[in-house]
Amino acid sequence: MTAFRTKRLIATALSRTVGEMSCFLRPAYGRRVVMYHAVDEPVAGDTNGIYSISKERLAQHFSTLAKDNVSPLGSSESAGTQSVSITFDDGYRSFLTAVVPLAERYGVPVHVFLAREFVLQGNPVYLSESDVVSLAHHQLVTIGVHGNRHLDLTMLGDDDVRSELSTARHWLQNLIGCEVSTLSYPFGRVDQRVARLASGLGFTEGFTSMYGMHTTSNDPMLIPRIDVWSTDTVGNLKSKLRGAWSILKESHA
Ligand SMILES: [Zn+2]
Repeated sequence: MTAFRTKRLIATALSRTVGEMSCFLRPAYGRRVVMYHAVDEPVAGDTNGIYSISKERLAQHFSTLAKDNVSPLGSSESAGTQSVSITFDDGYRSFLTAVVPLAERYGVPVHVFLAREFVLQGNPVYLSESDVVSLAHHQLVTIGVHGNRHLDLTMLGDDDVRSELSTARHWLQNLIGCEVSTLSYPFGRVDQRVARLASGLGFTEGFTSMYGMHTTSNDPMLIPRIDVWSTDTVGNLKSKLRGAWSILKESHA
C-alpha cells in the first residue's frame, strides 16, 4: 500500500468521526475555497489519480455546492461570511469544455488560475489564448494568475519571484483587458517572503493548498483551500466543507 493510500484511509476514517461529531457543533463560519484541477483528462504527475474528476461526479458536486452560498472570488460578499468559492488550477482545456457548461447548468461562479507558459505552449491539454479571451467575457467566470512557468516560488530569489509573477500578471491583464489581482501559488508552495513579494506587486488575494477555512482575521495572501479529489463522494465533499479534513493540512498540486 502506498504512503498516499495509507494517508487517505487514515484521513477518511478520522474525518468521518470528526464530521459526525461536527454535526452537533456550531457550523464553522468562514470562507471556504474548493480547489479542483481537470475533468476527464489526464493530469501530468498525478500518480495518485486524484486530480481529474469525472464529469458526472463534478455535476454531483456542483449540485451540492449550489445549495450553499457560492460567491465569485474577489466579491465583497465572500469575505467574512459563510461562503464557498470554486477554483480550478492550471488551466486545463476541460475548464472550457466541461466545467463552464456545468457552471451554467447549476448557476455557480467558477474561477480558473492560469500559468502563462501552459497557455502559450500550444499543448491542446491546456486552454489557448483565444480560449482565455472567450472565457473572460463569460458572466460566471473569473480568472487569476498561477505563475509564469509554474515554478515553486519559495525556491527562487526575490528578483525571480517578482519576474515570474509580474510577467504572468501583465500578460494576462493585456490579454483579457482587465485588472487581475488573485494568485494561486504554483504547487501551493508559499512562505511569508513570497506572500509579501506578491502583495507588493499588487495581488490582493493569494491562495495556498493548505487545508482550511478563511476568516477576516487571516492573511489575505495566505488563504487556505479545500483540495477536492476525483475520489470524493458528495458525502466526502460535505465533510471537507465542514472542515473535517483540515487534519491533512497541505497538498502540493
Ligand atoms: Zn498547479
